[in-house]
Amino acid sequence: FRGSVTLDGPSGTGKSTVARGVAARLGAAYLDTGAMYRAATVAVLDSGVDPADAEAVARTVAEAGIVVGTEAGTERVEVGGADVATRIRGAEVTRAVSAVSAVPAVRRQLVAQQRALVAGAEAVVVEGRDIGTVVLPDATLKVYLTAAPEVRAQRRAGQLGVTDAAEIAALAVDLRRRDEYDSSRADSPLRPAADAVVVDSSDLSQAQVVDRIVLLAET
Ligand code: C5P
Repeated sequence: FRGSVTLDGPSGTGKSTVARGVAARLGAAYLDTGAMYRAATVAVLDSGVDPADAEAVARTVAEAGIVVGTEAGTERVEVGGADVATRIRGAEVTRAVSAVSAVPAVRRQLVAQQRALVAGAEAVVVEGRDIGTVVLPDATLKVYLTAAPEVRAQRRAGQLGVTDAAEIAALAVDLRRRDEYDSSRADSPLRPAADAVVVDSSDLSQAQVVDRIVLLAET
């Protein structure tokens, strides 16, 4: 395979695991753009700037020194030389990342960095929300991965160790609300590109989803 595969969609679809699996199978580079927005959020949290001050937030991110690796087998995420690969998955960052990624100047910077990172690659899988629509509109293959909110809530609950049915139902309601908010955003639309293949993973294992995407890439 030569070219670029974009993998977009909401959280809880198994997107990251699938994207890494597809990249490994295709012998392609891999870029997790969510990790970049999360690293930017670490920089903002540590700087002490007001998250509501868009200008200060954008300046902080520009000067942060965000480094994200492009190998499917390893995860490298740094801010100003410090390893933040574990910290970016924590609750503090997850809570704040939406606000940071809603700042247009932050998106412009990170989109430019994303394009530069994949520019030299012979084959690459790029994962995010707006990759097929904004970052790489000319990608070779665009995939939009979805799953029913109930299924995504179940997976989320599994990750968080939640077993209570009412709590799982509340997770599903929250996912729906965030989907609606994200879909309505003009700068980072959470919707499939017109030429994307939509894959619903509700009734598929992650291995089956990887197989399907690899097949699409190789045909
Ligand atoms: O994919 P992940 O859950 O790590 O993404 C974290 C957050 O980064 C998302 O909830 C979203 O707010 C933001 N994001 C984005 N555009 C992308 C990737 C992630 O706005 N391309």
